[in-house]
Amino acid sequence: MSQTNKLYEKNSMLQECEATVLECIELKNGFGIVLDQTVIFPEGGGQLSDQGEITYDASKIKIEHASEKADVIYHESTSAIPIGEKVTVKLDWQVRLDHMQQHCGEHMLSYAFWKICEANNVGFHMSKGLVTIDLDKEVTAEEVAKAEDFTNKQIWEDLPIVVAYMPHTEVAKLTMRKKNEKLTGTLRIVTVEDGDICTCCGTHPTSTGMVGIVKVTKVEKHKGGSRVEFLCGRWALEDIRNKLNYIVGASNMLSTKEENVCNGISKLKSDIDALKDKLRNNIEKQQAVVVAEILANPLISANGSKLLIAVEEDYDAASAKSLSQKLMIEENAVIAVIYKTDNRVNYMFALSEGATGNCKEYIAKANELFAGKGGGNNTSAQGGGEASSDWIAKVETLKEYLKNN
Ligand SMILES: [Zn+2]
Repeated sequence: MSQTNKLYEKNSMLQECEATVLECIELKNGFGIVLDQTVIFPEGGGQLSDQGEITYDASKIKIEHASEKADVIYHESTSAIPIGEKVTVKLDWQVRLDHMQQHCGEHMLSYAFWKICEANNVGFHMSKGLVTIDLDKEVTAEEVAKAEDFTNKQIWEDLPIVVAYMPHTEVAKLTMRKKNEKLTGTLRIVTVEDGDICTCCGTHPTSTGMVGIVKVTKVEKHKGGSRVEFLCGRWALEDIRNKLNYIVGASNMLSTKEENVCNGISKLKSDIDALKDKLRNNIEKQQAVVVAEILANPLISANGSKLLIAVEEDYDAASAKSLSQKLMIEENAVIAVIYKTDNRVNYMFALSEGATGNCKEYIAKANELFAGKGGGNNTSAQGGGEASSDWIAKVETLKEYLKNN
């Protein structure tokens, strides 16, 4: 199949071209349109695919993705176009510019890390709204800030970016942060004046100013080095806009200035912790009273075991567990803690030391009464079911059952 003339390789600013359909092959979910030339960059080298449209015979066909195989570019589409048809290919410029900003920013930031702290870029990933590079060493927050500042300074100097084709023997003489000795023949070299030189197949702006800004958004340890998340240009602006909205929202909720949001949240957290402590103390006090009442007048089952039954409303699992543990201290007792949380009734059964009984049977009865689920073993079981309006009456039935079994 004839190779596609990749107009974007020599002129990344070209947004439209005329072309002739050479092939139209059937793909899994549509068609792959092959043209003699195109302005649409196919996914490759870490850069995402361009988007655009092909116009022919007054109809417009959307191209959401293009791929490349053996220098042939397949414009993926849901409609076919007859071979030989003359068409116009138009780029979605904003999508292209977004990708160029990220890709060029990636070159420049990688150069900055290499120059400032001798960290090498060993991985590059770009997806919508997320760009990362992997560095082969850990970098400090200070180094990250330096690299970010250096890159932005180069962006604002609006340095020329030149694409050149040269033999690999010439490329070998250049000082580059990344060299692939395996590449031979004519190589495509992207050079930022006074900055990065890199072998690359992607599209780049003609000068660094078009990148707009680079902002590192996250750094984490990764495979003995660092993974640096960052965004450039419009994607960085969108990210900053979103994050500012979160901060403004939080500052309104806390009725505090934006710069005091973290202090406000930290105060809120310590207030919550103090309230939790207070609540726990109150629950402990309340449970001491409940336990004393139950122990003062325990029910006795048919087989002679003490029945220690607690029934609580608006109770949580942690409190129920601690109540059960307090009752467990009493020997020779069957313990049942039944409690309501929202629209659920939960129940836990346990045998203290010396007690006879079978928690498996108790849980089966409770499950039957409350249409619930749960299980356990002979000495301990728990479960829960629906809290119907007559749940208290069902608890009384369960108590009777426990007394007689
Ligand atoms: Zn590149």
